[in-house]
Amino acid sequence: MPSSKPKQRDINPFPHSDSNKRYYTFDYYLKKKYGEKCAKITLDAGFTCPNIDGQKSRGGCIYCSARGSGDFAQSAYLSLREQYDIQVKKIRQKWNVTRFLPYLQAHTNTYASLDTLQAVYSAALALPGSVGLHIATRADCLPGATVEYIAELAEKTDVTVELGLQSAKDETARLINRAHSYEDFLEGYYALRNASSRIRVAVHLINGLPGETEEDMLNTVKEIAKIHPNECKIHLLHVLKGTVLAEWYKAERYIPMEQEAYVRTVVKQLTLLPEDIVIGRLTGDGSEADLLAPLWSKKKTIVLNEIDKMLYCQNLWQGKCAK
Ligand code: SF4
Repeated sequence: MPSSKPKQRDINPFPHSDSNKRYYTFDYYLKKKYGEKCAKITLDAGFTCPNIDGQKSRGGCIYCSARGSGDFAQSAYLSLREQYDIQVKKIRQKWNVTRFLPYLQAHTNTYASLDTLQAVYSAALALPGSVGLHIATRADCLPGATVEYIAELAEKTDVTVELGLQSAKDETARLINRAHSYEDFLEGYYALRNASSRIRVAVHLINGLPGETEEDMLNTVKEIAKIHPNECKIHLLHVLKGTVLAEWYKAERYIPMEQEAYVRTVVKQLTLLPEDIVIGRLTGDGSEADLLAPLWSKKKTIVLNEIDKMLYCQNLWQGKCAK
């Protein structure tokens, strides 16, 4: 006799889901938008960052890897097309995907002359099967002409600009050498918002930053809920070899977050975020070879399952406590 016990997906109260997920996954968003699975392809266009080259600061954010937080992109010595082809080939060995989302991830992808940006963005959009463009950058690196150009592009295709905020607390921003304030972030955020409603804006947050309490992490999410971006990514702070943070970790000046605290914090954050904000990710994706801590974060599926389990057991979902 077939079991009559309902599956979690059948009793899931969260509206933006076709599985047991009680939050609005990026995968679900892409499937709804394009009618099929799409794969993100991370690219390194060879940019640098004003926080590294001295324009804003030197040395970068204390956790920034040599690859400018673009550890999954291929080498910038390869052309965008070569990087793209390598990743598409790998993905097609696993899934039958025909649509792809080029993701300019490494360093600050609006930090160049307008001519250079136009050439890079056009080349990324011309890649075969490309459905749009995802641009990772800093909110303090959005000159008017660049924002205007992105708004023009967004009239023709799907463009997301991802802003690395990490924390809304300025004291933390100073500690991690982010080299811009929350007010600077808001200025860049609203420059995009006011330029075109067609530009999707994603905000990238990091849990477990030095000196931050759970209350700080929840406060950041409450601020994000107020400004209501299209997408929010939540990442765990990784201690990577060769970074300033690695030195702090070795000197016991920094203690990474435990899995249980991370899961509990993420669950609370999800309940505070409005239900229509797409959750771009809930775990980090640092290079495994360079990861010093926390090592539990390598088991991403376990972390995601624990988040699902806690949401289910406590009958919570994204937006349940949002104002
Ligand atoms: S803004 Fe990004 S690329 Fe620049 S230093 Fe910070 S983490 Fe690295």
